[in-house]
Order: sequence, then structure tokens, then C-alpha cells
Amino acid sequence: MTSPLHSTSSGVVTPRIVNADNHGKPVIVVHNLHKTYWLGQTPVHALRGISLEVSRGEFVAVMGPSGSGKSTFMNLIGCLDRPTQGDYWLDGKLVSRMSTQGLAIARNRLIGFVFQGFNLLSRASAMHNVELPMIYGGLTKEMRERRARQALQLVGLGARMDHLPSQLSGGQQQRVAIARSLVNSPSLLLADEPTGNLDSRTSIEVMAILQALNQQGLTIVLVTHEPDIAEYTSRRVTFRDGRLLRDEPVLNPRDAQAEWVALTPPDSVKTSKASKERNNSHASH
Ligand code: ADP
Repeated sequence: MTSPLHSTSSGVVTPRIVNADNHGKPVIVVHNLHKTYWLGQTPVHALRGISLEVSRGEFVAVMGPSGSGKSTFMNLIGCLDRPTQGDYWLDGKLVSRMSTQGLAIARNRLIGFVFQGFNLLSRASAMHNVELPMIYGGLTKEMRERRARQALQLVGLGARMDHLPSQLSGGQQQRVAIARSLVNSPSLLLADEPTGNLDSRTSIEVMAILQALNQQGLTIVLVTHEPDIAEYTSRRVTFRDGRLLRDEPVLNPRDAQAEWVALTPPDSVKTSKASKERNNSHASH
């Protein structure tokens, strides 16, 4: 069977990559969050009092029309900016009052980012791209390579570690970006329109990876304007005019893995099986 998410050669996915500790505890708590931008003398109220909690292990879609405050909200929970008013606890730490340097540390240690445009270095191999976030972590080259290999295997790219981004499909490039986001074992994965540049089949492939990681305990918050994509998550939060309009469970989430298998032509099933075997034999050396 073809699977976009492969475990390691032992069949066990190591918890060091997917941070699933403290399942059920809140990873995000925001209380009465406001953000006001100033255009000259004119205030722009981008967020007008957002309060919500995201428990560890949730998969949340953030939706809403353009200008509703989604990016502002993601910038705040991604520790890229500070609120004008209100508090934000990330993994139990009050990050809304941290200094710029404190925010940068929290961001690097606790959050993995996945972007619409993949943001890979075009001249670096998949392996090197995934190693990058660990460069400043004080790990030896050998440890970095081991973790990068593990993360790439986890997203089904064990056989393509030496490929440049240009030698990979869009879905595979996004998988490299997902692997890169995981190597520091983040408490939270923030994905900003991760399928925005992908066709619908490839979007399902990427959603299958995210669903599988979430099933292993990874907390994911994903911004999307596509209602179809939100159907693969388990909770839909809708913004309007800087306020929370709706916060509702996705009652019967779609199964991206099953849909992806159904869409995959039989010859790529064979190729995928062969690459999985290659993958496993590499990993066992
Ligand atoms: P969305 O991501 O849902 O499209 P945004 O968070 O980007 O919404 O924007 C919310 C509101 O804040 C919009 O009215 C937008 O024009 C305004 N805004 C966003 N960023 C800035 C900024 N840096 N300076 C001024 N206004 C901004």
C-alpha cells in the first residue's frame, strides 16, 4: 500500500521528532487578544478580543475572508509579533510579555513553520534543507544528519534525501518543508496555506502527511481559505472583522490518506513500494 507517511525502519516513529508529550494539555491559550496597527493617525483594529484554547493533539483550521485577521493571529501565535493588548501562553509560557529575544527563542524551540511557498533553499539538497534549523542548536553534524534523515523518512522521502528541490514534485517539496519544521520537536506546527500552491491531488497528499503527524500527537494550526482543506482537520475556527465568528468541531473529518491511495495510479503504487523498501534498507544500515 502506498503511504505518504513512512515510519522508521523499525516501524516505530520516534517521539523525539513528533512532540506528543502532555497530550490534552493546552498548547495555546489566548485571552482577549487585540492587535491594532496604525496607518499614520488611523488605527486599524486587526484583532478585537480573541480568546481561545488549543489543546495538545488538536488539528485546527483557521478560516475567514481576506482582511478578517487570520495572518495577524498567526503572527501572534507564531511569536513573530506581540499583541497590543491581551495575553498569550504557549506551552504554559506567557510569551505575550516576552522581549524580542525571548520571543525568538520561544519561536525556534516551540514552533515549526510550514509556508505556502515551501521556502526551501534551491541549491541545497532535501537533507541539507532539513538540517538547517538545527545549525544553531549545538548538535554535531552526525546528530543533525541522523535527525534530518529520521524526519525525511517520516514524511516518506527517505529515498530522496540527496535531491534538490527542483528535482522534487510540489508535494515532495512541501514534505521536505514539513520535515524541516519537525526537526526541533516543536510543540506546535503552524501551517500558513500549506496547500495554496498545490493542485488538488497534491493537496490531499500533503494533508495526508499532516493528518498522520497529528494522529501521532502533533498539534497543528493551519490557515486556509479553502473549505475542502478544513474538512481534513478536527476543528474549524472562523474569523470575521478581527473577531471569532465561529468555533466548531469538524464532525466527520475526511481521510486524506484513503483519498490519496484511491487517487494514486497503480504504477506509482509500485514505485512507492519499491522506494519504501529502498528506504527501509537504507535506514537499517
Ligand atoms: P487576513 O490574513 O485574514 O487576510 P490580516 O490579518 O492580514 O487578515 O489583516 C487584518 C486587517 O489588518 C486588515 O484590515 C489589514 O489591512 C490590516 N493589516 C494587516 N497588517 C497590517 C499592517 N502591518 N499595517 C496596517 N494594517 C495591517
